[in-house]
Amino acid sequence: MISFEGKVAAITGAGNGIGLAAARLMAAHGARLALADLDGARLQEVAAELDPGGQRVLARALDVADPAACDRLMAEAAAHFGGLDHLVHCAGIYPEKLVKDTSDEAWRKLMAVNLDGTFYVCRAAQPHLRDGGSVVLMTSLAAQRGSYAHAAYAASKGAVQSFTRSLALELAPAIRVNAVAPGIIATSMTSDLIGQKGAQLLESTPLRRFGTAGEIAGAIAFLCSPLAGFVTGEVMQVNGGIYIA
Ligand code: NAP
Repeated sequence: MISFEGKVAAITGAGNGIGLAAARLMAAHGARLALADLDGARLQEVAAELDPGGQRVLARALDVADPAACDRLMAEAAAHFGGLDHLVHCAGIYPEKLVKDTSDEAWRKLMAVNLDGTFYVCRAAQPHLRDGGSVVLMTSLAAQRGSYAHAAYAASKGAVQSFTRSLALELAPAIRVNAVAPGIIATSMTSDLIGQKGAQLLESTPLRRFGTAGEIAGAIAFLCSPLAGFVTGEVMQVNGGIYIA
């Protein structure tokens, strides 16, 4: 039911977890991809897996906290493929620290990657997005209900939700802008959390399991597809019921 034939998607955080799952799913449904992540070597492996012929995937190392690098990457991707249809921004960090132990530098780093990076990537992609395209950003359960020892992360994701709604107003009617708010998804980002509090988290999750990166990729693909053609400014909860608004 979903086809991305003829479409081009730029995906950040594509070397791991949710971004990698989104890249696999969108490639399987015909998308050509511009993939970005901190670790360029890992991305080359992903590109070789998804595109053995080397024609359909452009893979580049990128620090999303570097605005000039974001501008360069989106311009290169648009020139390479003739434009962009989708931006899927999955890069992010999730350091554990109580507020009283959070240094100015740690706070700034978190905001630089999770919040500034979201702004830089969206601003860089916007001039290249073709009409009918869409943006999908990543927020979190943490933005809805708080997260112990992750206040900076939760604050950054709350801001991403507000940014999503505002950018949706700016880019309408040509481009739709939405966000996904995952619950507890089993990726490298949550391995410590699941190790420490897994039983308690399962107990408070009505579906009694953690989500998979592929399930978040499914929500991303839906939001990019014509099936979500009347959806914009939305924050989609994909969380097994751990938070029901
Ligand atoms: P992940 O497996 O850790 O993947 C995140 C990717 O982002 C990694 O490849 C990481 O690279 C990359 N990255 C980190 N800093 C970057 C930077 N400055 N520039 C470019 N790339 C950078 O995490 P995930 O679980 O897939 O999370 C994806 C998104 O979903 C994040 O925004 C996260 O906050 C959100 N989310 C996840 C969950 C969950 O339960 N997993 C829940 C709610 C929201 P390195 O590995 O090299 O650092």
